[in-house]
Amino acid sequence: MSLRKQFIAGARCPKCSAMDSLVFYREEDVKGNSVRHIPVRECVDCGFKERLTDDETVADKQVKKGQPKATLNIKIKQL
Ligand SMILES: [Zn+2]
Repeated sequence: MSLRKQFIAGARCPKCSAMDSLVFYREEDVKGNSVRHIPVRECVDCGFKERLTDDETVADKQVKKGQPKATLNIKIKQL
């Protein structure tokens, strides 16, 4: 397994409101014969898990709301 989990600095869990408890990684998603790697954010505190799909990227929404660039930086690093 080469699953890399990375903490998102300054991010708050939408479920339990814990700071700096969110990790970001990519999860393999197999549909038919195509494999995609879906960005996922997960709270290590309460187990909250959310897939960030291409259609609805939560990270982008946060940036628009004036949230810190932390999530954006992580995205760039992952590429
Ligand atoms: Zn949480």
